[in-house]
Amino acid sequence: MRDVELYQQLLGLVAPWTVGRVELSVEDERVDIWAEHAPEVRWTCPECATLLSVYDHAEERAWRHLDSCQFKTYLHARVPRVKCPTHGTRQVKLPWAEAHSRFTLLFERLAIDVLKEASVRGATRILRISWDEAWHLMQRAVKRGLQAKGKCVPARLGVDEKALSKGARYITLVCNLDASTIEYVAEARRMESLDGYFLSFSVAELESIRAIAMDMWPPYIASTLRLVPGARDKIVFDLYHVMRFMNEAVDEVRKREHREHRARGDETLARSRYLWLYAQERLPPKHQERFASLRAMNLKTGRAWAIKESLREFWKMPTREQALAHWKHWYRWATHSRLKPVIKTAKNIQHKLHNVLTYFTHRITNAVAEGLNSKIQTIKKAAYGFRSFENFKTAIFFHCGGLQLYPVTHAKPG
Ligand SMILES: [Zn+2]
Repeated sequence: MRDVELYQQLLGLVAPWTVGRVELSVEDERVDIWAEHAPEVRWTCPECATLLSVYDHAEERAWRHLDSCQFKTYLHARVPRVKCPTHGTRQVKLPWAEAHSRFTLLFERLAIDVLKEASVRGATRILRISWDEAWHLMQRAVKRGLQAKGKCVPARLGVDEKALSKGARYITLVCNLDASTIEYVAEARRMESLDGYFLSFSVAELESIRAIAMDMWPPYIASTLRLVPGARDKIVFDLYHVMRFMNEAVDEVRKREHREHRARGDETLARSRYLWLYAQERLPPKHQERFASLRAMNLKTGRAWAIKESLREFWKMPTREQALAHWKHWYRWATHSRLKPVIKTAKNIQHKLHNVLTYFTHRITNAVAEGLNSKIQTIKKAAYGFRSFENFKTAIFFHCGGLQLYPVTHAKPG
């Protein structure tokens, strides 16, 4: 088989395109291929598909293609231009590349696969592309994916914040709880940060949102109440977040009690912190004996722990009515416990009870958002060296957007 025929096959070039010539440079480890077309071919306007003859040709361009046995491979061509009566002089569509890309479709597909598995730095080495080219490929892929996805409001959303650094820089994340995808990323965690998401939809679209899981972060609550119709019954405070408050209260009681004990030389509660924070059934066997003896001691911490465990039962109630009944009983117990941190937390939850009880209507938590949040942490850590927030956003959508990132390929895979 002659080299032109070989590359014709490898590239999957179809009429009217053929391989004109192939040049191999062993020294430069490079293969250059020129694609040509028959002169009499008629082309379609890329806008309206009107059949037209060639008007002229653009300057020769080159597209990086999949390597041929480690040799960098470039496809060259002069792109025909047509003069459409409606759309003017336009370059025709090419079967091997998207408009404005410096890579063939097959190379872009490979690059997306590599970028999904490796860090950007790693991908530049594997693919032998520059840092800017790697970001450019990711941006194109994300743009393509977002366009294909179109505008849609998920029925069940999670809103979460993520700390970017210890310097308290935050970003706001909105995720689709059913698809486990990131829908929106914005800087900071202010009301406007979340407003940006809701304001991209019409009121009718926002009406279709059924439920929104979030922490009790006032700016997010304010944004949602202001912009989402019926938000009062749609906001669900994340149960893990509520339980975190409760665990903090237990820990506060332990700290205070331990301090009192220590003052009289009693080390009973030393190094017991995590024992009280475990869910009862998850306490590792090696701690069970000590924990049982601590519990038998009638400690304030033991009472706080029992109240915390009872609040865990609250979430298991089968109906809102039963949950409310459990809550009333629990609230009375908690507020009469004479344990200040517990009373404070109980009152705090009571104050927001309406959107705690919505859990029993919608049954959602922010676990998906938390999961995506830690995935983003990995993206951030993977030595990306984000030079801008836009790059970071691109990487988040690339890895967590659930997007169709690949270009549509017409050619057979090489
Ligand atoms: Zn046209």
